[in-house]
Amino acid sequence: MDALETAVSRSKIFQDLDWHIFMDDLRTCPRRTVTEGEIIIRPGQENHSVYFVVDGSLSIHLEKPKNDPIRIVYSGETVGELSIIASTHSSAYVVGLEPAEVVVIDQSLLWELVEREPKIARNLLLILSGWVISSNVHTGQQLRTLETLQGLARMDGLTGIYNRRSFDDMLQRFLSRSQRTQKPMAMVILDVDHFKRYNDGHGHQAGDQALIALANVLKDSLRPSDFAARYGGEEFAFLLPSPPFDEAIAIAERVRHAVMEKKILSQNQTPLPGITVSIGLAMSRPDSTPESLIGMADRNLYRAKQEGRNRCCHLQD
Ligand code: GH3
Ligand code: MG
Ligand code: MG
Repeated sequence: MDALETAVSRSKIFQDLDWHIFMDDLRTCPRRTVTEGEIIIRPGQENHSVYFVVDGSLSIHLEKPKNDPIRIVYSGETVGELSIIASTHSSAYVVGLEPAEVVVIDQSLLWELVEREPKIARNLLLILSGWVISSNVHTGQQLRTLETLQGLARMDGLTGIYNRRSFDDMLQRFLSRSQRTQKPMAMVILDVDHFKRYNDGHGHQAGDQALIALANVLKDSLRPSDFAARYGGEEFAFLLPSPPFDEAIAIAERVRHAVMEKKILSQNQTPLPGITVSIGLAMSRPDSTPESLIGMADRNLYRAKQEGRNRCCHLQD
């Protein structure tokens, strides 16, 4: 068997049929040598042929020929059938992955072969379903990448909790729900005390470790229905869906104590001094807006600082 016969005998398009009767036709088709990296089909290009790979391999790429291939086509496989059957322009780049030898089957010959042997039509259907599946897999992968990127855009890089952007979205959602259920929600804002001094005294990296430790306190102290985020710099905030006022205060106080008691370690695990936080708490009212609620929490935070820090203020003015 020569290389062409070997490729045909294990091909998908000529499987389960007497392929010998097509060898003469295939031998009269033009042969093409593809070099490594050579582009033989481009998106948008008119295509009138199926490329049957005799030797070597081709790779298929969407958008850019340098993108990761969505599929590799080996000896005995074909490319181009999709654009012929759908009578559309090509939708991908077909590139020589390694030096390859291909037989160029013109579409008129392809239809002639199908007329002579309808099993080729069935085989084409199987090949096409393979393309649909690999394209679905690719779309699925892209969606997952997109989801990952969207997820990252919502997280704070240093502490691994949600960022301000997520917080703003969530505050709006918590408020809408609170207005629907007519149960007030709580917003709590925390600011590290004398954090500039902490950075100056122990270094910025130590400061970063302290912020990570603080975020971990929030993760550990709150329930899944609550929502905590880094609000900016050394400020954090959390939302409680519908706590009674007393309970909101108790939770804020519990967090404040947990921060005081939290052991902070440097990157090489040596102990660092602890930190304290000042806290402002606000309960929503039926007419609260995100701005009015943040304003109330901020004023209470300011009061907590004024009154000596490491405390929680919760005036409802
Ligand atoms: P106060 O008790 O009044 O809040 O005093 P403070 O020193 O905490 O407040 P100030 O606003 O003067 O300083 C905040 C400091 O927080 C300054 C800034 O360098 C530090 N900071 C903000 N973001 C980060 C960060 O990501 N890492 C570190 N290490 N420090 C940060
Ligand atoms: Mg601050
Ligand atoms: Mg501060």
